[in-house]
Amino acid sequence: MTEGYIKFNCNWEQKEIQIQDEIFGQLEAARTRLYKLRLIGMYPDGIGFGNISVESRESSSFIITGSATGQFAKLEPKHFALVTGYNFTQNAISCTGQTKASAESLSHAAVYETLPEVGAVVHVHCLELWKELLNVLPTTSAEIEYGTPEMAGAIQQLLTNMKPDEKVIVMGGHREGILAFGQNLEEATSEIIKIYNRLSK
Ligand SMILES: [Zn+2]
Repeated sequence: MTEGYIKFNCNWEQKEIQIQDEIFGQLEAARTRLYKLRLIGMYPDGIGFGNISVESRESSSFIITGSATGQFAKLEPKHFALVTGYNFTQNAISCTGQTKASAESLSHAAVYETLPEVGAVVHVHCLELWKELLNVLPTTSAEIEYGTPEMAGAIQQLLTNMKPDEKVIVMGGHREGILAFGQNLEEATSEIIKIYNRLSK
């Protein structure tokens, strides 16, 4: 572990959350597209990867896939959590749900906080895409590892300097990690699938 590493802190209230049918439908549709392309899934060692989120109507909160849900082809509302608060420097989030929010919630929070027009974020893993896009698309420093407070700061800094039509960033220090975002789940998902289709031809 890196020196000065601050462990991810999840302040979890284990309680059922209500997700509107329409929103749940959008989450499920977006995730299914990504799951089928193996941009979200599970490694042979049982560790899940990839997560998606959508902004909730309440300001500064968002609904995100729960930790350890990567292996499921279909999700139920109980597999999602509502992130109600976060603190980048303490590497901490507060969440509610029947499952804990993804440990990568802070990367999503960094996007929402920096770009108010963004309504949905998807985080996928794909080694081929990652290698192709590294330092071609906006990329966070290779020195900054996943799960560190520095990653949120690096994402924010990158976003601040990006052109408005750029909707995908590569996480240089998080092997395979790519983030895409948009006004809604459809847009965020299409942004990454568009690139995936272009490169896999
Ligand atoms: Zn990741």
